[in-house]
Amino acid sequence: MVDPIATRCLRLAWQGWCAGTLPVGAVVTDATGTVVAAERGRMFEPAPVAGRLAGCAVAHAEINALAQLPAAGQRPDHTLHVSLEPCLMCVGAAGMTAVGRLRFLGADPYAGASRHYRHTPYLAELPLRVDGPMRGGAGALGSALHLAYYLRTAPDAPAVAVHRRSMPEAFDLARRIVELDARQPDAAAAGLFDLLTEPAPTRPAGAKTTDAPAGGGEPAGMEAERT
Ligand SMILES: [Zn+2]
Repeated sequence: MVDPIATRCLRLAWQGWCAGTLPVGAVVTDATGTVVAAERGRMFEPAPVAGRLAGCAVAHAEINALAQLPAAGQRPDHTLHVSLEPCLMCVGAAGMTAVGRLRFLGADPYAGASRHYRHTPYLAELPLRVDGPMRGGAGALGSALHLAYYLRTAPDAPAVAVHRRSMPEAFDLARRIVELDARQPDAAAAGLFDLLTEPAPTRPAGAKTTDAPAGGGEPAGMEAERT
């Protein structure tokens, strides 16, 4: 079974898919596991949403979630959960908001930057632990949702070619997501989680993958590498 926080990330991503934007969901939890912020990407949504970025290149799920945290303070006991490996901007935002852990489900072999953020003395000193990608259904769904957007809107995009070459299982899953009824915003009702019953390991070529039970359970800890 996929844990509730991972499920929420995937549900948020699915809502983004139904809204016609890049489908990524993000959740921030505190030391007790309580959700203190949850949002999704709104990059290609022109409609303004109060207190959220939308319709601009930086309207990523992680930014919209982390922006709900107070400006001051360190948060070593907070975790940023994301359905997809964050880009360089969002990994940096995790560091700048001083959360203690980043946990992502699916790999992004094209723009994922989870191992490439410790390039300033400030960020290098932060005790940010990075867990992901997660092996199993949850990780595959996180990757495939994002890829499905490109398959639907820009099948010739470089991101599609990279995924086809390095993540064939996620590529197949993305095709099946495209075939689902995108007009149904309830992910479970739309059949998204039915895809979890299919084995769909995801491991980008050359990338380390975090072990997790089938279906996307909690991975073992993995300290981010300094690059
Ligand atoms: Zn991002």
